[in-house]
Amino acid sequence: MIEFRGVNKWFGPLHVLKDITLSVEPREVVVVCGPSGSGKSTLIRCINGLEATQDGDLVVDDKRVGDPATNMTLLRTEIGFVFQQFNLYPHKTALENVTLAPTHVRKTPRAEAEKAGRELLAKVGLADKFNAYPSELSGGQQQRVAIARCLGMRPKIMLFDEPTSALDPEMISEVLDVMIAVAEEGMTMMVVTHEMGFARRVAQRVVFMDQGAIVESGTPEEFFSAPRTDRSRAFLSKIL
Ligand code: ADP
Ligand code: MG
Repeated sequence: MIEFRGVNKWFGPLHVLKDITLSVEPREVVVVCGPSGSGKSTLIRCINGLEATQDGDLVVDDKRVGDPATNMTLLRTEIGFVFQQFNLYPHKTALENVTLAPTHVRKTPRAEAEKAGRELLAKVGLADKFNAYPSELSGGQQQRVAIARCLGMRPKIMLFDEPTSALDPEMISEVLDVMIAVAEEGMTMMVVTHEMGFARRVAQRVVFMDQGAIVESGTPEEFFSAPRTDRSRAFLSKIL
């Protein structure tokens, strides 16, 4: 579903992605971790073309990212992206946030989009918040709306960039529970997170990045109990 082959990226003189080779199978959940500044956000932002790469191949759902022949607008509709900051439309209700893209981009009839939107909000535990504005919701609730909004587009891939890092501790698990449910339904996911419980529960693979390179990749079991490099051991000793 996602394949990096020898991908390199620079920001000016800064070599931020170094020879990245990584493939994510359909229905696979891959957790990406590593120190701040190691290139995790840049890596997943490349997948929907938010960042351009300068070298190597990146193929997503059989389409080459950055190729003029690839319709990136169309490809982006297949990729849900959940950010650390929830990025909801502040002047729209929860339900409107969820139905906006399906009605405007997918041209789903409004009644149908609203029915689906209510079902999605109920699924993320917000059946009583259809008409609430983002400012009336907690951070955890806003992030669940953001996830429901992505799901409303029926994406093939979901990318998450530190989705719980901006949340108060008591709200983290309500968001992780929703992400676990999405994973268990078979979504292909790449998740930048340091939530090791999440990784152990649903990830098939953990990828550890440092200084722009993938230093280690293995099952959660292998990575957490027997990290193979000094850098991953040092990182784990700080977060566990
Ligand atoms: P992470 O998500 O692991 O913290 P990032 O992918 O955000 O790392 O950043 C990787 C490196 O690229 C860092 O050194 C960061 O300062 C740099 N960087 C990120 N975005 C930009 C940008 N738009 N312009 C220049 N440098 C950037
Ligand atoms: Mg980041």
